[in-house]
Amino acid sequence: MGDGLDYPLGERRPAAAETIEIAPGIHWLRMPLPFQLDHINLWLLEDGEGYAIVDSGLLLDETKAHWLAIFERFGIAHGGRAGKPVTRLIVTHFHPDHIGLAGWLTDLLDTELWITRTEWLMARMLYLDSDAVNHRSMADFYALHGLAPELADRMFSGGNTYRRRVAEAPFHHRRLCAGDVLEIGGRRWEIIVGTGHAPEHACLWAADGGVLISGDQILPKITPNISVWASEPDASPLEDYLGSFANFAGVPDDALVLPSHNLPFRGVQTRIGQIVDHHRVRLERLTDGFADSSPDGSGGARLSAADAVPLLFRRELDFHQMGFAMGECLAHLAYLEGEGTLAGRLDPDGIHRFGQT
Ligand SMILES: [Zn+2]
Repeated sequence: MGDGLDYPLGERRPAAAETIEIAPGIHWLRMPLPFQLDHINLWLLEDGEGYAIVDSGLLLDETKAHWLAIFERFGIAHGGRAGKPVTRLIVTHFHPDHIGLAGWLTDLLDTELWITRTEWLMARMLYLDSDAVNHRSMADFYALHGLAPELADRMFSGGNTYRRRVAEAPFHHRRLCAGDVLEIGGRRWEIIVGTGHAPEHACLWAADGGVLISGDQILPKITPNISVWASEPDASPLEDYLGSFANFAGVPDDALVLPSHNLPFRGVQTRIGQIVDHHRVRLERLTDGFADSSPDGSGGARLSAADAVPLLFRRELDFHQMGFAMGECLAHLAYLEGEGTLAGRLDPDGIHRFGQT
C-alpha cells in the first residue's frame, strides 16, 4: 500500500464477531471502539484443548455480545457452560481498549490475567483515582504548560474517564517479565517489553513461526500516543519509546506482525525505521521553531508547550485533539531537554516555558 510494508491479506479484515486464522492456530478478531480509531485487533491462540486470549476490548455491551458469539462458535466454556477452556488472558498494557474487559472475561471464563506488574498496577491505580484529583491534577498541569486555565479546566472536567471505560481489573495477576517464555499451542512466545506508550508494555514474539504480537508498541500507518502526564511531570516517554526499540533488534524484517490497530504486516524493522524518522522530523520542527520564533531569528524565544503545539501539528486541532497534542508536544520537548537542546523553567507568571540552551 505504498508505505514500504507488506500486508499479506491486503485490505481483508474480520467483520464484527468474525475471525480470520491469520497464521496456523492464531485467530484474528476485531472489536469496536467509539473513537476516530474505530477498532482494536485481538488474538485467540489455540492452546492444546483450549485457547489463550490476547487483549480484551473496551467495556462496551457490544464488545461483550461479540465475545459471547465467539465463545459459542469456538465451543469455549463460559458462564458455567461446558466447553473448551481458556488457558489464560494475556493483556499487553493498561489502556482501556486492551484491559477494559479483562475483569469480565476472567470471571466469565474462570481464567487468570497475565500481565506485567507495572501495567497491572497502573490499571488498578487509575481505576481507583477520584474524579476530583484527576480533574484538578491534569487541568493544573496543562495550565502550567500554557493552556488557558478555563480551557484546561473544561478539558478534564469529566474527571476519571478511565474507570468508565474498564471493568475493574482482576484483583490478582500472573506476572509477565521481559524475557519470560510462555508455551502456548506448541509455540514458545517470548515477552519483549516496550516502553514510552505505556510503562511496561508486553509484546509476544514467537521465533518459531516468526510471529510478533506487537500491541500498540509498533503499529502500521499510525504512531502510538507518546505523552507526558501530570502523574510524572519529569518523564521522558519519547526517549523511553525510541530506546526500547533496541529490544526488538532480534525480530527479523520478514516476521508477521500482529498489531492492535490496522492490518497485520511484514516489515517490522522497516516500520521501526519509519517511526524513528517520524519523531526525528517532529523534533527538528520543534528545534527549528524555537530558532525561528525569536524576533531577530537569533534564538532566545521562550515557548510553553501550548505555544509549541502549532510547531508540531500544522493542522487545525479540535478540543479533544488538543489534549493529546499537548501531551505529545511535552514528550518531544522533554526529549530535546534531555539531549540538551532546550531547557525549561518556571517563569514568574507561573507558566513553564522552554528555550534554547
Ligand atoms: Zn495503548
